[in-house]
Amino acid sequence: MELTGHIFNIQKFSINDGPGIRTTVFFQGCPLACRWCANPESQNRYAVQAQLLNDDRCRRREVTVDQVMAEVLQDKPFYDQSGGGMTLSGGEVLQQADFAAALCRAARAEGVHTAAETTGFASPEHFRMLLEEIDLLLIDVKHFDPGKHREGAGVDNRLILDNLRTAAASGKPMIARIPVIPRFNSTLEDASGLARLLTGLEVKEVHLLPFHQFGERKYQQMGVPYDYDGTDQLHPENLTDYRQIFLDAGLDCTFR
Ligand code: SF4
Repeated sequence: MELTGHIFNIQKFSINDGPGIRTTVFFQGCPLACRWCANPESQNRYAVQAQLLNDDRCRRREVTVDQVMAEVLQDKPFYDQSGGGMTLSGGEVLQQADFAAALCRAARAEGVHTAAETTGFASPEHFRMLLEEIDLLLIDVKHFDPGKHREGAGVDNRLILDNLRTAAASGKPMIARIPVIPRFNSTLEDASGLARLLTGLEVKEVHLLPFHQFGERKYQQMGVPYDYDGTDQLHPENLTDYRQIFLDAGLDCTFR
């Protein structure tokens, strides 16, 4: 039987998911339950409520590798000109590890640069398999403390940190992505702890993703409670001291 995957969007002309102009493929399904999640329809716990979502950014479907590649390859001239490529995102791509690896193999066979954004919450076998098939790893690092991580994201971070160590030891190009979230990891003490964790793993590059409210309407449409309802968005100008802590630690740190 042909391998298929479940996705909820293919976004063209992405410029924040790796270098150059990219096509980002969003995988359906996520085992985490982040309280601030902007894509609640991708969470496993909201699979039923996601049917209620009426959002033009959400086109959930089952697809083959060839179907995705047909869309990805339409923009190959832009990737070639800009140093871009294809990025897999989610949800959590490693919930569909075989499909993710097959997509990356197909893209590389066509000379397309591949990146994957992952939470790192996956079996070490699946994580290593994907690592071998990609050119760039974008790994979310939400908190250094297991208890705080569980409180905010529904799972603790031990498995994630183990996989992060594997990635660091592999020498694969890697960027740590930190969503900066009020009441979770937005204090200067949080920044210091995260910077210590990353420098200890010899991570070189960090992207800070200030909290936004792009998902607020989805919670309303799905009829599920949203812990960050009405919380003010963060902007780079609110986080200059926060960023400085990463710069002082010797990390290349930018906002996305
Ligand atoms: S990891 Fe991402 S997609 Fe999954 S629950 Fe957290 S914010 Fe949402």
